[in-house]
Amino acid sequence: MGKVLIIGAGGVSTVVVQKCAQHPEVFEEIVLASRTKSKCDAIAKLITNMKVITESLDADNVAETVALIKKYNPDLVINVALPYQDLAIMDACLETKTNYLDTANYEPKDVAKFEYSWQWAYKEKFEKAGIMALLGCGFDPGVTGVFTAYAAKHHFDEIHYLDIVDCNAGDHGQEFATNFNPEINIREITQNGRYWQNGQWVETKPLEIHQDVDYPEVGGKDSYLLYHEELESLVKNFPTIKRARFWMTFSQKYITHLQVLENVGMTSIKPIKIQGVEIQPLQFLKAVLPEPGTLGENYTGKTSIGCQIRGIKDGKEKTYFIYNNCEHQWAYKDTKSQGVSYTTGVPAMTGAMMMLNKIWDKPGVWNVEEFNPDPFLSALAKHGLPWNEIINEKLDFEDLID
Ligand code: NDP
Repeated sequence: MGKVLIIGAGGVSTVVVQKCAQHPEVFEEIVLASRTKSKCDAIAKLITNMKVITESLDADNVAETVALIKKYNPDLVINVALPYQDLAIMDACLETKTNYLDTANYEPKDVAKFEYSWQWAYKEKFEKAGIMALLGCGFDPGVTGVFTAYAAKHHFDEIHYLDIVDCNAGDHGQEFATNFNPEINIREITQNGRYWQNGQWVETKPLEIHQDVDYPEVGGKDSYLLYHEELESLVKNFPTIKRARFWMTFSQKYITHLQVLENVGMTSIKPIKIQGVEIQPLQFLKAVLPEPGTLGENYTGKTSIGCQIRGIKDGKEKTYFIYNNCEHQWAYKDTKSQGVSYTTGVPAMTGAMMMLNKIWDKPGVWNVEEFNPDPFLSALAKHGLPWNEIINEKLDFEDLID
């Protein structure tokens, strides 16, 4: 049982709040705070079985967050605002000795760069304060890390190859829209790609490498190699991995739109001045694109995200594929949201449940794969994201290295 303060009131938050409210036996009090209070109120209106308290908060301002935490004294802060706020919210948690959970690693606003170093640097301070931070507890990062930990625990003596495959085979009916915060999404995709091979990072040009991947119940889809943050923690926590890569599907239409936007400078984060006002082209683009949280109603199709793993068990080669498929319409029925927000929000609620129930409980700063995967995965399946396994069948990735 516990009280949570949820920060951020976008697509993911809409799911987290509703999923927490579905379990009042664990989440006895919910406070929802974000920059725009009216968005918190709109989410709170969806909840009928308990009262959700709403507040306005600029989470970039540590003192403001500290004051809000002191006012409600939550057991856990769930950060589903933007990655820019991670460190400020962690500072507020330290000052108030409050546990912390997020779904995306810290990114500075003015450099499109994301890595765990900034948040891992808080480990000792969190340990000393006797509080816990759980990093990256969405789907990817999040469930993909737990899937890998589950594979390591139950199926392998050594994992050698890891390919995380992420497909959104849905259709929202819009010409161009992103499924989560457009600014963060476009920054991620327009960066150089990167993957881990033989103890070092190999860099690629943005979207340079792609291949057809066969997604269960979806079929073959062109998938692009991207850098994704969970690769950093997974190769650290599973040092037998020789190669780790992340693949994501994009339709040709999406890529064409993105290329045009890039070519005309609309994806730049370098501020420009228009009529005396300084703006970032990418922030302007975000303002004209549909909000991810509004895409749900007419979304059809499904997402399919999983880990294709190859390694050794009892001296023999083994392949293993663990994945979840999620129907956008199912997500909408459960939480009035689309599948990408849903597949992020359900794991965040599940991680929060693990922490409040003290099933995952150790002071410090941790990634999800550092805990026992079993209780998390059994709860995840119960709360809307069942998963499947395929053992010793052919994987999509046949190119092996020594
Ligand atoms: P949205 O843009 O829909 O929502 C972000 C929310 O954060 C908005 O309500 C916004 O307020 C609020 N916010 C922004 N800045 C501040 C601030 N300074 N103080 C308080 N609130 C603020 O994004 P999503 O819901 O799609 O994504 C939320 C998070 O989830 C992101 O970090 C994203 O990277 C992560 N994510 C993780 C995934 C995973 O699988 N691990 C997948 C998808 C997303 P306002 O409404 O005023 O703009």
